[in-house]
Amino acid sequence: MSKTTHFGFEPVGEHEKAGRVRDVFDRVASRYDLMNDLMSLGLHRGWKAFTVAISGVRPGDRVLDVAGGSGDLARAFAKRVGARGEVWLTDINASMLTVGRDRLLDAGVAIPVALCDAQHLPFPAGSFDCVSVGFGLRNMTGKEAALAEMARVLKPGGRLMVLEFSTVWAPLRSAYDRYSFNVLPWLGARIAGDESAYRYLAESIRLHPDQVTLAGMIERAGLERVEYFNLAAGVATVHRGYKTA
Ligand code: SAM
Repeated sequence: MSKTTHFGFEPVGEHEKAGRVRDVFDRVASRYDLMNDLMSLGLHRGWKAFTVAISGVRPGDRVLDVAGGSGDLARAFAKRVGARGEVWLTDINASMLTVGRDRLLDAGVAIPVALCDAQHLPFPAGSFDCVSVGFGLRNMTGKEAALAEMARVLKPGGRLMVLEFSTVWAPLRSAYDRYSFNVLPWLGARIAGDESAYRYLAESIRLHPDQVTLAGMIERAGLERVEYFNLAAGVATVHRGYKTA
């Protein structure tokens, strides 16, 4: 029998979770970007810009964006690495990747794209100067396996950047809960035509490891000098770790 994990608050078999997550992103892919702007009042753009700004990525670098979805991080990294560098946009979901690739092409950015599971990355060890994952880790069944894969494909001295929802500063928690469990599903129903996908979002955030726990997981994946930066009082957090040089 497969082990149990969670899909939002619902206990599900580990073998079942990836399919349930895939269904969510298949359903919301076409409205994903608009929903991001509405839900965060545009803040996600600043969080992504901050992630790229502190990544240390330079012209000529190779960057892998895992669970890249509609491609915001990949596009910003592509600008940084310039013509001499290379950025890969990857995701497990074909609908999200198609939206992402089309958006990048519309913006005049042509980069390699790969459909793959973060837990089994199709790249040799030591391939990238930076690996990023934005709002993707929370959805993965085997977070430890995915982090280990990201560490494996980094070059020595390379950086892992994890941008993810996190645990909010305690005094704001009850207001944030009211927003997440009432406003988000309401917006999801009206804008994306899918209340349950946005209820899953709120629930999955509550079950995601907090800042300190995630930092420990990143260290156990083999990264050092791990630190994190809270954004909007911990609504989101950027974790950064370095592969031992
Ligand atoms: N990175 C984009 C952003 O910040 O806007 C997209 C984030 S979206 C909330 C989460 C993405 O994680 C989805 O596109 C989903 O398909 C992807 N994902 C979920 N599980 C995955 C896995 N095991 N491997 C790769 N991608 C995965």
